Parts: sequence; C-alpha cells; structure tokens
Amino acid sequence: MTRIKEHLNVLANDIGPRLTGTPGNLKATNYVAGVLRELNYQVNRQRFDAMDWEDSGATLDLDGQTISAQSADYSNPINVVGELEVVDTLEALQAANIKGKICVLTGELTKEVLMPKNFTFYKPETHQQIIAALELGGPVAIISVSHNESPAAIIQDGDFEIPVLGVPQADGQKLHSGQQAHVVINTSRIKSTGENTLGHLGEGRKVAVVAHIDTAPKTIGALDNASGVATLLAIAEKLKDWQGEASLEFVIMNGEDNYAMPGELVMSEMIATNPSAYKVVVNIDGVGMLGSKVAYSGYELPDSLRETVNTIFSQQKEFVTVDPWPMGDHMLFAARGVPAISLTSADIFAQIDFLHGSADTVDVVDAVICDVVADVVSRFIREMG
Ligand SMILES: [Zn+2]
Repeated sequence: MTRIKEHLNVLANDIGPRLTGTPGNLKATNYVAGVLRELNYQVNRQRFDAMDWEDSGATLDLDGQTISAQSADYSNPINVVGELEVVDTLEALQAANIKGKICVLTGELTKEVLMPKNFTFYKPETHQQIIAALELGGPVAIISVSHNESPAAIIQDGDFEIPVLGVPQADGQKLHSGQQAHVVINTSRIKSTGENTLGHLGEGRKVAVVAHIDTAPKTIGALDNASGVATLLAIAEKLKDWQGEASLEFVIMNGEDNYAMPGELVMSEMIATNPSAYKVVVNIDGVGMLGSKVAYSGYELPDSLRETVNTIFSQQKEFVTVDPWPMGDHMLFAARGVPAISLTSADIFAQIDFLHGSADTVDVVDAVICDVVADVVSRFIREMG
C-alpha cells in the first residue's frame, strides 16, 4: 500500500486551505518537494509572484440600519459614504451614471460568478461586458446582491480594483437608488510568491503527470485536489527506480483554482518553448470521489496512443470514458498540441457546486480508488516509456 492516505491527510487536514500565495500553500509545496526529493527525483521549483489576501470583514450601513455583508474574495479595502445606484441588467448598467456612486448589482446581473479578468481558458462575453461597464463607469464601490441567502459576490478577482462586497438576496431588496449608504471593507492585498514544483528522473522525451495543489479560498480541497496530488506522489513512489527510455516529470501545478492562474501562465510559457519535449501528459484532478467511477478523457491523442489509452484504461472496471472538458491543467498542454489525458471522477460534473466549499473533506475521498488510479497510470507510463 502506498502513502496516499498519509499525503491526503497532510495536505487536506494538517495544512488545510492552500490558496496560492498563502502560508498554507507554501507549506504544501515544501511538503511535496520534500517527498519527491526523498524518492530521489531532481526537484525544480518554478517561482512566480502571487497575492495573499486578508479579510477582517465588511459592513454596510443604510440610514442607521446595519445590513449583513461580506467582503468579496480578493477585494480591495474601502471606507466610503455614497449614493446607491441599483441596476439589474447589462443594458441598465451600461446606461446608468454610476461615477462616484455605490453601484448595486442585482437581478440577472448576479446570476453567476464572473470569470476573473485574466482567466485565459474560459471568457464568456457577457462577463467581460459587465466588468468593462463597471470599470468604465467608475463607481467608488460595488454591492453584489446574491440570488440566495449566501452573501457571496459575483466578482472574486485580485486584478479588479473597485472594492466589492456581497449581501444576501433578502437584504439586497432593502437597497434602492438614491439612498445614502456607508460601506466599509476591511481587507488587504499582500504581495507574495508561489511555485510550481517539478520532479524529474531520466533522460529523453518526457512522460508527465500533473496535479494542482492549490485550493479555492474557503476550502481544504480534499477531492479538489489533495487526492490528485496524493495520487501523483504515489505514482512517483511506484516509479522511483525508473530506467525507461523516456524521462519522467511530475508537475505539481499551483493556481488552477486561483483568480489569475499565476502558475499556469509560467508553465504554459515553458511548454511553449518546446512542446515536443513531451510525449504524453496525464492530468489528475478530482479523482477518488466516494462511490464514483474514475472518468478519463483524451486530448490531441494520435491514433496509436488512443488505442493504448483505451486498452489500458477501459479494461478497468472502475474507469469510464467521458467527453473532453475544456477547463483544467490538461488544457495547458493540449493547447500546444501535446497529447494529454485527463482523469477525474465521473460524478463530479453533476456536483460541481460542492467543490470549492466546506463539504470537500477527506470523508468524500476513497483512498482505495486513488490507489487503483496510481496503479493504472504507472502501468500506462511503463507502456509508454
Ligand atoms: Zn481542481
């Protein structure tokens, strides 16, 4: 039995939240570097600038009445009194005079969380139009009224400069254009760093295994993605005496769940300098969900490789094939034409809401399935190398 349970416990329970740029994230990357070194891999650390963020709370006062409010993740701080301007559609927002006012976003504008400005994989046009209208309009602060009892704001972006707070739907209904409000957001953005951690062994074209170590802000991220990192480390352990023709590269990515994907951008540049250095890449993200099959999908696979993948993966009763999905770190490689395989849990797509929250604990991870994944991927790598 490999050390999957041990790695999972260290990352999710002992360390906990691992948002890129935070002390927990640094502890986690130090831990994996130590494990890889212990297994005799050569460790390279790809450093980059990142942002840590502290939140001491937010308040919203309206005519002497205090409304419950929460700082939006990564928001800048502010303490300001201003006039409210309530808008509920993109057209209304674009037409409104919000300069110097406190802009209240509600209705269809707050249906979904906006993709961050510098997120490269997925950029819906309406999201960009809302952000552009706000930046052009120049309000002093933004209040995001949610669609439910959660005060989460639709803007969670460290590259967005206007301060944002969120209020639950019921409280949001008390806000009307023309009212005076006092907004206080007690937060600070702190310059920090992070790293992708890479372990190498051997010469020749690379067979890589990839898993991201960071989490979203308010979760210990057991399934997303401590389980993937634990599985990656188990594969590294199984292959530590590797003498194949290909070289092995274990890539612990940092930033998949971050607003700006800093580690992804650094890695993407490295891949771009020589994509053909990679023979094939296996990305592991969200594997081991209790009661779920393992889902695999292929990207940019040549026919011969597709056959090997189908033979090895589909023979496993725990595995099912799924359609390609366009997010996740396999896309960094596939976008450069590198053959890639993505492994996750089949049931994860139906429960995407539960990720990035407090429900993502080690209780939802089945270490036995992770161990099966480590076995199958190791067998695939031996076949490739
Ligand atoms: Zn993930």
